[in-house]
Amino acid sequence: RAKAAGRNNYQFFTTAMNTLVTERQYIETGLRQAIASNQLRLFYQPQIDISTGQVVGVEALIRWQHPELGLVAPDRFIPIAEEIDMIIPIGQWVLENALAQLAQWRKKGAKTLRMAVNLSAHQLRKDTIVADIINVLAQYQLGKGALELEITESVAMQYPEQNAKLLAELRQLGIELAIDDFGTGYSSLSYLKLLPLDRLKLDRSFVKDIENDPNDAAISAATISMSHELGLTVVAEGVENEAQLVLLSSMGCDLVQGYYFSKPLSADDCFRFIERNF
Ligand code: C2E
Ligand code: MG
Ligand code: MG
Ligand code: MG
Repeated sequence: RAKAAGRNNYQFFTTAMNTLVTERQYIETGLRQAIASNQLRLFYQPQIDISTGQVVGVEALIRWQHPELGLVAPDRFIPIAEEIDMIIPIGQWVLENALAQLAQWRKKGAKTLRMAVNLSAHQLRKDTIVADIINVLAQYQLGKGALELEITESVAMQYPEQNAKLLAELRQLGIELAIDDFGTGYSSLSYLKLLPLDRLKLDRSFVKDIENDPNDAAISAATISMSHELGLTVVAEGVENEAQLVLLSSMGCDLVQGYYFSKPLSADDCFRFIERNF
C-alpha cells in the first residue's frame, strides 16, 4: 500500500516536473523571439519631488505582451532572460526605447525630465556597456542629467572595485546612479563609500507599513539621514497612501514613487500625467 502510494507520488512529481520544464522552455523560446516579434513594452512610473510636487523623472519598467499569456510582469521573465543571456539584447532594447521616449517628451516640453532605467548584472559586465550608452544618448541628443541607471545592492557589490571604475566613467558622462531596493540585500554598507552614487531608493518593504510599524519608520528615517550625510538623495518606493507620504516628507525624503501618485503607465498616459505639472 505504502509502495503504491509512493509510486503514485513519484508519478505525480515527474508529471509536475515535466510541466515545469515545458513551461520554462515555452517562456525561453518565446523570449528569444520577443524583440523581433515586437512583444516588449515599456511602462513608465512618475517620480515626484516631495517639496515641489513636480514630476522630475520616470522609471521605465518592462512588460512582455505575450500572445497567449497576456501582459507578463518582469519578475516572471527577467530572471530567465538573465540565465539565457537574452538580458543583453533586451537591456539594449530598453535603453534605446526609453531614451527615444524621453527625447520625444523633452521636445514636447518636459525639458528637464529624467529617465531611470534598471540595469542587470550581466549588462554591467558587458565590455561595451559604456560605449553602448554613449551611442544611445548621442543618437537622441540627450546630455547630462537625462539618464539614471538603477542597480541593486547585490549587483553593486558583486565586483565592487570594477564597478567603482565603471560607474565613475558613467557618472563622468552625466549619467546618474541609483541603488535600487536599498536595504533588502545581504551586503554591507561599505559599497556606499566605494561607489560614486547619486541616489538611493528605499525599498518598498520599509514603506508599505511605515505608518504602523515603528521599526520601519526608524529604518527609513535613519536611511534618509545617512543618505543626506553621504550627499545622496532618497527616493521612497511603493508609496501608496497619504499617511506614508506625510511621514516620509517629515523625515526629509526627497522623491517619492508609488501607486498613491500613479501606477506604471503607458507612454501616452504618462505624458498626460507629466503634462499636468509643467
Ligand atoms: P523595481 O525596479 O524595484 O521596480 C519597482 C516595482 O514596484 C515595479 O514592479 C513597480 O510596478 C512596483 N511598484 C511601484 N509602486 C508601487 C506601489 O505603490 N505598490 C506596489 N505594490 N508596487 C509598486 P514591476 O514593474 O513589476 O517590476 C519589478 C522588477 O522588475 C523591478 O523592480 C526591476 O527589478 C525589474 N525590472 C523592470 N523593468 C526592468 C528592465 O527594463 N530591466 C531590468 N534589468 N529589470 C527590470
Ligand atoms: Mg528600479
Ligand atoms: Mg526598486
Ligand atoms: Mg523592487
